[in-house]
Amino acid sequence: HLVGKVVIVTGGNAGIGFETAKDLAERGARVILACRDEGRGTTARDKIISATGNNNVHYRHLDLASLNSVRKLAQDILQNENRLDILINNAGIFGSDNVKTEDGLLLGMQVNHFGPFLLTFLLLPLLKSSSPSRIINVSSIAHARGLLDLKNLNAEKETEKAYLKSKIYCTSKLCNILMAVELSNRLKGTGVTANSLHPGVVETDILDDINIKWYQLLLPLIKLYTKSPWEGAQTSIYLAVSPEVSEVSGKYFIDCHLSNAF
Ligand code: NDP
Repeated sequence: HLVGKVVIVTGGNAGIGFETAKDLAERGARVILACRDEGRGTTARDKIISATGNNNVHYRHLDLASLNSVRKLAQDILQNENRLDILINNAGIFGSDNVKTEDGLLLGMQVNHFGPFLLTFLLLPLLKSSSPSRIINVSSIAHARGLLDLKNLNAEKETEKAYLKSKIYCTSKLCNILMAVELSNRLKGTGVTANSLHPGVVETDILDDINIKWYQLLLPLIKLYTKSPWEGAQTSIYLAVSPEVSEVSGKYFIDCHLSNAF
């Protein structure tokens, strides 16, 4: 029932994003996989086309670590697509130390928050003209740590590198939620909704990138309880297609259920 609808999934080449994109392609949408690597993006596109029989699946280059790349993609979409019904800000990284991007921003913050923020902002005119339309931010329950950090800003003493990394990740994931809340306020009456979600703990590459000692030790145990990428995609898919949430905005979901982020 998504025939005629246009969907963008950032990071649609892997993990949760791939399963989300595949499902929406199965439902007949025109799906744009916005990915940073052409090889991985086109391979994912071909897999989705052969699995779903939907030829209307496309790769577009997007490196969220470059604001210029974000602007280029947005320009391309605004020029070449006549509508945008669903934007899924799914791509994310755990982060690499305090590496800065060409834009002078912390890599983790830029890929997880500033890049998606700019992309969403630039695509808003098309989302508005295609309304009812939906913005979905794939956040994380780790946002709670970001919230705690904010509350204890002055009491903060830790300096360990890995801990700093976790803070960047957690803060960026908090920003995903706050962005959806703010958008929902500003977009009232436009027919564009914005929600965020925690996908669960999902067996994807990102789990291996979490470079914290205690976490690495527990990882084999954690992996016994992870969701598959398909299971992890279910809340994104729910927020993209379910009529139940067609007018819900500014909310946070876990396992396809409304949850409390704050
Ligand atoms: P994956 O590592 O499998 O997928 C991450 C995706 O983001 C990949 O497609 C990756 O591309 C893409 N990406 C990374 N950096 C960039 C960039 N600079 N520009 C564009 N795309 C980029 O992990 P998941 O599928 O698990 O992650 C999806 C989302 O789910 C993330 O936002 C993550 O924070 C969130 N999440 C995941 C959890 C889990 O347990 N897995 C738990 C909570 C939240 P590439 O293949 O090129 O690296």
